[in-house]
Order: sequence, then structure tokens, then C-alpha cells
Amino acid sequence: MIEQQSVDLGSAPALGASDTVVGQSATLLRKNDTGTDGYGRAMCRREIVQEQGRDPWSVQRLPVATVPVMQDGRPYPGAPISALVTDASSSGLGLEFDAHEWRPATDLVVGVETPNRTVHYAGVRVCYLEALSGDRLRIGCEFGGFGKELLHADTLAPRFDTESLAFVARFPQDLLDAWCAVGVLTATLNDRVQLCPKCHALPTFRPGCRRCGSGDVGNEQLIHHYACSHVGRVNDFQTPAGLVCPKCRTRHLAVNSDYEYVAGPYQCRQCQWSDTELEQVAQCLRCGARFPGHQAYLQDLRDYRADRLDPLALLPSS
Ligand SMILES: [Zn+2]
Ligand SMILES: [Zn+2]
Ligand SMILES: [Zn+2]
Repeated sequence: MIEQQSVDLGSAPALGASDTVVGQSATLLRKNDTGTDGYGRAMCRREIVQEQGRDPWSVQRLPVATVPVMQDGRPYPGAPISALVTDASSSGLGLEFDAHEWRPATDLVVGVETPNRTVHYAGVRVCYLEALSGDRLRIGCEFGGFGKELLHADTLAPRFDTESLAFVARFPQDLLDAWCAVGVLTATLNDRVQLCPKCHALPTFRPGCRRCGSGDVGNEQLIHHYACSHVGRVNDFQTPAGLVCPKCRTRHLAVNSDYEYVAGPYQCRQCQWSDTELEQVAQCLRCGARFPGHQAYLQDLRDYRADRLDPLALLPSS
């Protein structure tokens, strides 16, 4: 027989305007923090959620995995913490934790396993804590907060910003990597781009001089005489009598049957450097730095995916 216990969020102890709850039966989180965090997000003003007027569904104490969000937006290290969903509505969840496993956090990502064994996630903000008997904690949450932002994975890929001429992302790469590591996000490599090693903005590329980086380079056309294998400058073949091989003195050379044109070594008109190959020389469109292409900063552009939880999925199946 499945134990079914319905807890109505609305019947949580009535807490007054005071932030201090005497009697220790409940703890109200109230931090009138209206500043911004390290990513410029508006910090949550912690208040008791108005539960009146909403109609919580009872849930058959559904086991879920929760990942508390640290202050810097990263997931708490370690395995997800198990909890039970005790009730849910379209605006929030009631969760029950073992008090020893609970980690103080204002935001959580809650993972619910679906019948096809994939885990779907929801971001929630903690509205209040309530101590239950037997070292259990009841956490009232509303959908939203950092986790909700994170789970809009289609907005997490870096995008090219035409102002800064760089790829900008909402969150730092290592933060997203951390959420991939705990399985909440999955990433696929979409592209890998070469950027300025100094400021990570977009460069232009040109074939150029390996020594001074100039694009003012050219190469001379040479003639390869098949019969004697001589390769020389076109000028040296040209005579009033037509093309004559300067080595074997053969006259009346015909292109393709007697000789071919070949490209000579490149020469830089700025520094007189000469080589058979050019370098890809890059110049940053933002800071103007010129650098050999192989010194470019390589940035991975990843796409992200998240399975978002539909609160309706929490409805009892029977
Ligand atoms: Zn040069
Ligand atoms: Zn010849
Ligand atoms: Zn730059």
C-alpha cells in the first residue's frame, strides 16, 4: 500500500510580519536583499509566498533529486540531495528533506524522474523552511530563480555581440560545465572559433609575412623547362627570339608541351623575408593586435539542452 500524505502549503504555520519566529517550529527566510549578484541578476527578495487562492495538488510523496545552487551560481559539490515532493501547484512545490542532508540555499534545481527514466528539472526558490518532527525539514518553494534561468538552455550558448565584436555568454563556461557535470544540462560542441589572444574579440585573417605580419607579399612566376629540369625566372627565359632556356639553350619553347609556369617563393615587400609558404596572419578588429593565426585563442561554442519539468507531470497518476 502506498503511503499517501497530503500537505497543503496553505496550511503552513501562519507567520507574522516579524522575521523572528519564536518557538522554533519554523524558520522564515527573509533577506531583503535587493542588490545584484556576481552576474548582474537581481537578487531575490525573500518573502513568504502567498499561498492563498492557489490549489495545491497532493502528490504521492514523490522522490526527487535536488541540487542546491551556491551563491556563485554553481551547483553544490557532491551528489544531489534526495527529497520528497509532498505537494505541488502550478506555482510551486513543497519538499521534505532529511534535516541533516539539507544544505542552506535560496535556489534549488529539482530533478524528477519521468516514466521513461529521463530526469526533468525545475528551478525553484526557497520561500520558507519548517522543522518537522523526526529531523525532517519542510521547504516551501516557488518555481523560478536561478535554476529557471539556467534551464532555459536555448539561451545559454554564446552569441556574437556586434558591439564588443566578441562572443558573449550569459554565464561563465566553467559554471555551465559544472551544471553539465551534475547532469542538469547537456552540451554539444557547435563550433570552435579563433579569436584574439589578448581580448578574445573577432580578428580578420590574411595570408602574410611570417616575420613581420605584413600582407604585402607576392611571389614571382617561374618557368620549369621539362627537358633539362631547369627552373628559372621568366625574365631569364625571355629573349628577342622568344623563350629560350638559359641552361640548355633550347629555343621556341611552347607552354605545356615544353615548360610550365610554377610559383616561386614568396617575398615580403616590407621586410624582404622570403619563404615558400605564407602564414595566416590575424588582426583583431577590436584591439588591433596582429598575431600569427596559430596563436589565436580557441573558443568552443557549445549548445546546451535541458529537460524542463512540466509541473503537471507531478499530478498523481491515479
Ligand atoms: Zn615581412
Ligand atoms: Zn633547359
Ligand atoms: Zn584584441
